Amino acid sequence: MPLLEVQNLFNQHILKDISFKVEEGKTLGIVGESGSGKTTLALAILRLIPILKGKILFQNQDLSNLSDKELRPFRKDMQMIFQDPYGSLNPRMNLMKILEEPFILQKISSKERKEKVKELLPLFGLTPDALSKYPHEFSGGQKQRISIARAFALSPKLVIADEPVSALDVSIQAQILNLIRKLQDTFQTSYLFISHDISVIRYVSHHILVLYQGRVMEYVSRDKFFEDAQHPYSHLLLESLPGKNRKAKTLTESIETSVTGCVFALRCPYKQDKCLEVIPEYRSLSDDPEHLIACHYPQRAQD
Ligand code: SF4
Repeated sequence: MPLLEVQNLFNQHILKDISFKVEEGKTLGIVGESGSGKTTLALAILRLIPILKGKILFQNQDLSNLSDKELRPFRKDMQMIFQDPYGSLNPRMNLMKILEEPFILQKISSKERKEKVKELLPLFGLTPDALSKYPHEFSGGQKQRISIARAFALSPKLVIADEPVSALDVSIQAQILNLIRKLQDTFQTSYLFISHDISVIRYVSHHILVLYQGRVMEYVSRDKFFEDAQHPYSHLLLESLPGKNRKAKTLTESIETSVTGCVFALRCPYKQDKCLEVIPEYRSLSDDPEHLIACHYPQRAQD
């Protein structure tokens, strides 16, 4: 049984018929350009924005119709790490208070929560002398370590990481990505890892979901994605990888502004008449039932 299964999820303006699974202890990398709906999808799964229809099965329990009160027991098992660690930390709280807060919400006694905070620190590369410091006294990398520690305080089963390294220096990014992977090995946490950076997605993911204008274009294992992605938009994303020789066919220019069929048609060099009129079904490829794609004419990459 997957830890999380999203079925045919829609929201008001952006998400259209999103389906995928996340297994326990595994990472689903969600990739797509700015505006593709990655963050909206994260917020919808956490029920922080309204959804129109669809199911969000978390440990086989459908969260899509639960009230705020009914959702409360699930909140501790589903946490989020944000892109801007400074913005997600209260500047008026010192590190002890920041890390204590999740335990206060769980009504854990003051003595016990202070002990728990001290136990957390070494796992995240933090030291006890930092407990009296405030967010502005930490570097960007340390602030992100604090955000991650806070997200992990209650041992969540699922962590949604929204561009967690994109605001950091390249030299710090690797440290944070290694920490995220190490925590998964230790706690068997599942991640939804959102990034526009295909290199980062390759490093952390077991499966990959490609989003474009709020629709899933392709969903496949990480290895297969890098060997045999077949959606024209996936080819375009793969072109950005350093050292890649494969070339996506040149994008088309179009004066049309919308079509009723495939959302990628205006940019797709392979489009045919059917693409402009019929939305491609999200389906498995005949030679691999685990490889799902929304395209009338899947393409193997050209080396
Ligand atoms: S359905 Fe047509 S337009 Fe859309 S990605 Fe596939 S080939 Fe391109």
